[in-house]
Amino acid sequence: MISCKKNLKESGRCLMRYRTAFFYEMLKSLRLLIILFILFNLWGCATAPYRRVPTQGVYHIVESGQTLYRIAKTYNVDVNIIIRANQINDPTKISVGQPLFIPGAKTTLWVEPYRPAIQEAVEKIVGPKNYDSVWRYITLHHSATLQGNAARFDRDHRNRGMGGLFYHFVIGNGTLSDDGEVEVGWRWKKQTQVNRPYDIQICLVGNFNEQQLSDAQFNALVNLINVLRKQYNIPLTNIRRHKDIKGCITECPGDFFPFDRILAQLK
Ligand SMILES: [Zn+2]
Repeated sequence: MISCKKNLKESGRCLMRYRTAFFYEMLKSLRLLIILFILFNLWGCATAPYRRVPTQGVYHIVESGQTLYRIAKTYNVDVNIIIRANQINDPTKISVGQPLFIPGAKTTLWVEPYRPAIQEAVEKIVGPKNYDSVWRYITLHHSATLQGNAARFDRDHRNRGMGGLFYHFVIGNGTLSDDGEVEVGWRWKKQTQVNRPYDIQICLVGNFNEQQLSDAQFNALVNLINVLRKQYNIPLTNIRRHKDIKGCITECPGDFFPFDRILAQLK
């Protein structure tokens, strides 16, 4: 009976020790889970910064010539905050009379409308003819992105080890530069060629596998090509899409790119 009692006592202690060990193991696992949860959230924040859309703001009624880029700049609000607050799928498609919620704004402001550059203005942007340069081709690209400008692509191309902006000119779509705004890249300023000699690179912001070129972009492109052709005697047959270059496997500048309409306009 004594040994039996002793055994019972022992097994009770064993059970207690087992329960305590189990409790500590559970605590350890829980602690690990909490650490993993915090790390996961921190990592998520580092890769995809999420800025909360403020609930206070004003409604701006879009008027003619007011691009999302201009509106965001005037109100000093990140363009993506306006896009998110208004659930805009295509940032190039804001229409006259459309109310846009501007988060954080206290009062409505006047937004200066953009007037696309006429040929004389484009001539100024391109600058005088460089007699040391022999430009023979013009290749047309799209950015394959919904947003962009020269500075954004310069940063992206630098990160990809391309030595900065690949294109000589970038034509905006009203998101991060004006609709039809012609921006000059450093390669044009320095008259530097890309991997294809004598070939001027023009990029239009947008994904023309999904969108259409805007009228302002179309006109700016025609004006720009006219100026370049006049300065460097580039024949119409040397104007090409990126995908027309032999050996280039690409869809650039997209299926909706109105190449025939551009050629017809240039004739
Ligand atoms: Zn391309």
